[in-house]
Amino acid sequence: MNDLTRMPYQLPMPAEAQADLVVPCAIPENENIWVPQAENVWFRPLCLNTSQGYWVNLLRVRKSGILSRHRHPNPVHGYVIRGKWHYLEHDWVAEQGAYVYEPPGETHTLVVPDDVEEMITLFQVHGVMYYVDPWGKPLGYEDVFTKIEMCRKHYGQVGLGDDYVDQFIR
Ligand code: FE
Repeated sequence: MNDLTRMPYQLPMPAEAQADLVVPCAIPENENIWVPQAENVWFRPLCLNTSQGYWVNLLRVRKSGILSRHRHPNPVHGYVIRGKWHYLEHDWVAEQGAYVYEPPGETHTLVVPDDVEEMITLFQVHGVMYYVDPWGKPLGYEDVFTKIEMCRKHYGQVGLGDDYVDQFIR
């Protein structure tokens, strides 16, 4: 009897399909891979998708207090790896191990509580992070392209090379 269960798929991948992407050490050992975003706030790119306009990254925060107030026109998925955080607009707390879905249309204010030394959360952000004041007045935005630019600049400065970010772009 032929055992087909262990046989790899026998046909070629579609010619137009993109290369797969594996990041062996998502929480990196090399500190330089963390891209500074603000004082005591960093992100680490995992997948920067320019054709669908989203990015997957780890956000690392080593301070407490208000991080940002922002609107999401598109969905966000989050998974808390370390620490905890919450939004001023909701009564739940995203603790280590939690999954969070942020629906399109949400505007919220991200807070890291005082007793958290380090927070790391994986976020998949579609479209933009649209920064606003409490009345919705725009203060700036980030999208996959501004994230790529920040990575390129930082990786150039720390000697990893401006093209280091390319491995995360699809
Ligand atoms: Fe958010």
